[in-house]
Amino acid sequence: MRRNETAGSRSESVRQANLSAILRSLHLGGAATRSDLVASSGLTRSAVGALVGELTEMGFVHEERSASDGSPGRPSPIVMPTSDHVTIAMEVLVDSLAVAAISLGGHVLDHRRVDRTRQARPVDDTVRNLVDLTSKMLDELPTTVVVHGVGVAVAGVVRRSDKTVVVAPNIGWNDVPLGDLIRLALPIDLPVVIANDGDFGVLAEVRRGVATGMHDVVYISGEVGVGAGVIADGRPLGGAAGFAGEVGHIPVNPGGLACRCGSSGCWETEVGEEALLRRVGRAAGGGRAVVDDVLASAAAGDADVLAAMDAHGRWLGFGLAGIINTFDPDVVVLGGLFARLFPYVAAAMSSELDRRVFDVVRQQVGVLPSGLGLDGPLLGAAEWAWEQVLADPAGAEPPLPWCARTLIVGEV
Ligand SMILES: [Zn+2]
Repeated sequence: MRRNETAGSRSESVRQANLSAILRSLHLGGAATRSDLVASSGLTRSAVGALVGELTEMGFVHEERSASDGSPGRPSPIVMPTSDHVTIAMEVLVDSLAVAAISLGGHVLDHRRVDRTRQARPVDDTVRNLVDLTSKMLDELPTTVVVHGVGVAVAGVVRRSDKTVVVAPNIGWNDVPLGDLIRLALPIDLPVVIANDGDFGVLAEVRRGVATGMHDVVYISGEVGVGAGVIADGRPLGGAAGFAGEVGHIPVNPGGLACRCGSSGCWETEVGEEALLRRVGRAAGGGRAVVDDVLASAAAGDADVLAAMDAHGRWLGFGLAGIINTFDPDVVVLGGLFARLFPYVAAAMSSELDRRVFDVVRQQVGVLPSGLGLDGPLLGAAEWAWEQVLADPAGAEPPLPWCARTLIVGEV
């Protein structure tokens, strides 16, 4: 009896691992034929058929008959993720909030970003705004859509274990239990994961961006604050207290300006959004609209703005040289504001890197703008929110469809 139970639980865990492998392969690699899945998984054709059947029943995938390519025999059906299941990604930046509904395969079904002017933000306002944005977005998706979880990217230092923003100097937060506050404010009960936007940014880049498949990657997020997500030897770098990657606070200028972290001369004071606006003679705190205006002037060839971009690029290269010499990455991905500035700062930045980075390292490292646009951290947040489902597709009780929340709210 005991032996049978053991054998039963072993075959159950094999089934779980195989379901997980097939769903993960479709999530990361996109649509595939059953033959592709047989080849990539090493499982038999009948096993793959049974697993795809289970995933189809759960609503995660569907199959389409491929058109015959003229080769003999029956064409293998194409298996692809459906858009019936989503995770919600949220992003809290200094001057904007964003939410997105992202299906398996990393497809963004809907996405909303709202600007906000720069000032200290009561956390309750932020939570209410995020939940309102999310509710409006989900109301416009098909009523049957099933939400599995929420990933929240924050421009601040995050302690993941208790989902707390330890410090976000540019937002004015200390020890904010943001993950729990969002979970309690949502109309249906969903698991919430939360991390620094740089950590989610680098995850998105290695899964879906310019660093796909690489093992040593630095992602730098630049907006008002500057931070990084680092993957070293294939592992995310967290640090003993969770502060690893706070590259915006590397001291680079002994005579520099005061920083919101309490120090002075931090890299952020030379390359953050406020430094750019200072260099072009615009008031700090104008938000994304003013940055758009500056970029338009650069595109139009405004000599003063281009000179300011040049100075900005030198400071960018100065700090990046230290980061590259420290981590020796395959690639540095520049996200957020830095990706937008890239065409105007690249030459000055590169000449600093040429002067300051070890030759051997300089020759192999790529410094590239993110191809994921401003939404890289959102994609990374969704990736992490998917993890529980990918690890055990049949494990969790399927969450209620979004439309069911009205029943719950109605009972309150
Ligand atoms: Zn600082």
